[in-house]
Amino acid sequence: MNSVDLIDLHIHTSASDGTFSPREIVKLAKEKGLKAIGITDHDTIDGNKEAIKEGKEIGLEVVPGVEISVEWEGRPVHILGYYIDLENESLKSTLQNLIDFREERNPQIIKRLNSLGLNISYEDVKMIAGDGTAIGRPHFAQVLVEKGYVKNGDEAFRKYLKRGASAYVEKKRLTPREGIQLIKNAFGITVLAHPFNIDGIKNRDLERVIFQFKGMGIEGLEVFYPLFNPQQTLQLKTFAEKHGLYITGGTDFHGAQKPNIQLGSGFGDLRVPYELVARMKEKYREEKSPQER
Ligand code: AMP
Ligand code: ZN
Ligand code: FE
Ligand code: FE
Repeated sequence: MNSVDLIDLHIHTSASDGTFSPREIVKLAKEKGLKAIGITDHDTIDGNKEAIKEGKEIGLEVVPGVEISVEWEGRPVHILGYYIDLENESLKSTLQNLIDFREERNPQIIKRLNSLGLNISYEDVKMIAGDGTAIGRPHFAQVLVEKGYVKNGDEAFRKYLKRGASAYVEKKRLTPREGIQLIKNAFGITVLAHPFNIDGIKNRDLERVIFQFKGMGIEGLEVFYPLFNPQQTLQLKTFAEKHGLYITGGTDFHGAQKPNIQLGSGFGDLRVPYELVARMKEKYREEKSPQER
């Protein structure tokens, strides 16, 4: 048995495109024996309060968080924010803008799918998304599966929804500086999410890219991630240690949306140690942010 306390700092709930509610996520994490989790929904913090409340009731540490997509050199890059102040007004209003950008884009995806001959309405997509705040492409994928147009979500993305595919529509994004400032203004720690997932990035480009983001205020790197091989993980860890960046990690759990990924362990062997959370909290004790840490 392992004696190290484990965590998962990258989790999507039904507030965005995950399939479990915040309460269900907390229960599942507790059952799996995790010591802390971070809720990182796309463009919304709406899942955090329910998760924190449930965490207090059943005894699981919940780190408030968010994941936003910024536009960097023409490509989407994801930024995670941890320990954000959930009452911060500029955070709340800018996240609402990001939801509005989704609401501009989403009907255009429907139009494209319709013009390709697929019978799908935005109502169908909203039904799948339930009372979630951020409606995204995985919800479209699920409708396409249910209507029998594709076998599974992968095929939906490959044929229609992924960047460059026939029904793909860009959405407006913040610049990296805007995204990073937004989180910092809300007393959050900014982390570059899954750096090796950036479109077209090669191992040898990585340091240059991270350096640019560090110049724009990034404070941490997501080092532990299911898709990264040991060499990539080591490369990120070494870089973070060399440059004084926080190290984080998580599975990007989406529930049934990504059926191969398990909460806490990814494809089965991911292990993210609790000490990473302890380090982030130290900083916040020093800086005394407005929130209860
Ligand atoms: P959106 O927020 O609407 O732009 O959708 C982004 C989400 O779609 C990501 O967070 C993933 O959950 C999912 N996604 C993106 N690309 C793919 C892909 N190629 N295959 C499966 N899911 C994907
Ligand atoms: Zn997602
Ligand atoms: Fe992401
Ligand atoms: Fe994510």
